[in-house]
Amino acid sequence: MLAEIDVAIIGAGVIGLATAREIAQGEKGVFVFEKNRTFGLETSSRNSEVIHAGIYYPENSLKAKLCVEGKSLLYKLCDRHNIAYKKCGKIIVAASKNETTQLENLYEQGRKNGVDDLVLLSRTELKMLEPNVEARAGLLSPSSGIFDSYTLLKFLYSQASEKGAEFVFDTEVIGIERAGAKYEVRIKDRDGISVFVAHAVVNCAGLNSDRIAQLAGIDIAKAGYKLHYCKGEYFSLSSKYRNVVNRLIYPTPEQAGHGIHVTVGLDGRVRLGPNARYVETIDYAVDETYKQYFYNSAKRFLPFVELEDLAPESAGIRPKLQGPEEDFRDFVIAHEEKAGFPGLINLIGIESPGLTAAPAIARYVGRMAAELFD
Ligand SMILES: Cc1cc2nc3c(=O)[nH]c(=O)nc-3n(C[C@H](O)[C@H](O)[C@H](O)COP(=O)(O)OP(=O)(O)OC[C@H]3O[C@@H](n4cnc5c(N)ncnc54)[C@H](O)[C@@H]3O)c2cc1C
Repeated sequence: MLAEIDVAIIGAGVIGLATAREIAQGEKGVFVFEKNRTFGLETSSRNSEVIHAGIYYPENSLKAKLCVEGKSLLYKLCDRHNIAYKKCGKIIVAASKNETTQLENLYEQGRKNGVDDLVLLSRTELKMLEPNVEARAGLLSPSSGIFDSYTLLKFLYSQASEKGAEFVFDTEVIGIERAGAKYEVRIKDRDGISVFVAHAVVNCAGLNSDRIAQLAGIDIAKAGYKLHYCKGEYFSLSSKYRNVVNRLIYPTPEQAGHGIHVTVGLDGRVRLGPNARYVETIDYAVDETYKQYFYNSAKRFLPFVELEDLAPESAGIRPKLQGPEEDFRDFVIAHEEKAGFPGLINLIGIESPGLTAAPAIARYVGRMAAELFD
């Protein structure tokens, strides 16, 4: 007889952790399998730590809805559980007439998404708020902020554990096979390979989530689940620029990312990034040949910055469903019952604003899981 559990969650990034915290209640046996030695070592710790407002995404998309809901849940969590944050606000800046029109479009888009505190700024108004920033116009988002994402991950982990979720680290899921109404899940750890039975499988495997769906038997090409890796690198600005801006400063968005922005960490450190470039492999080294590109991008709105003030810092990789030059793709959060896999919940393409949206994504998945166990 194989050991049986109720729910197998694959991946202990912010999405797996928040989901475990949401669904680990009562007697339900929730196990989280993580291939790394601990939680949060991949995309969840390689990002801008920005609490996004929910401006950019098409109306009614999951990205828009879950970002707006997640933002409010996340601020509440931070307040209640002593997670450091700063609701510093953000300004998207325009350098040309074209970009100024883009700001107006973003203002409308944001309002449609329920972000009702946006303010269009003239050059003079912008200068009053951010004397060091050079731009033609701006769009102020007062509800954007930054927070300590590691403390959030730690909090989610300890709450999920307290509620009874079991974390199994250094353990990779290498096979998922449907067995009647359940799944045989094959795992590999230091002691070798073993198999157990799960009533439900929740795929929160980040950059690997398309492969996990494929392992379970989903035709990922047909389903449109194939992921593209899109690298985002950061450069830091030297300490003489501490607190050079009061808010997060973003350019108008690019095709694959939010554009190289300026973030001031909770400690006042300033960094630039991320860029967005499609890559074939997972490699977190920062390519220094992009320094000039970062410099040119920053100089557009911080004209006094010098090339030697930039130093390579870190990188993350976006699990993107949208390939190069392709149109917007939403998060996939799907119970695959119709595809013939009842009890399998896939979360694929959870790129930005996944960190902000995490508490709302967890609630969404929690409702799906509750239906399975009704
Ligand atoms: C450069 C960059 C900047 C970003 N900035 C922001 C931002 O400012 N604000 C924001 O809201 N969002 C941001 N995001 C998005 C956010 O970071 C992600 O949406 C979020 O971290 C995704 O979390 P996750 O749990 O899905 O993935 P991950 O954190 O990658 O977790 C997935 C986990 O699954 C595990 N796993 C994979 N395969 C297996 C397997 N077979 N068996 C066991 N375990 C497995 C992995 O080891 C990993 O720990 C950014 C992303 C990037 C790349």
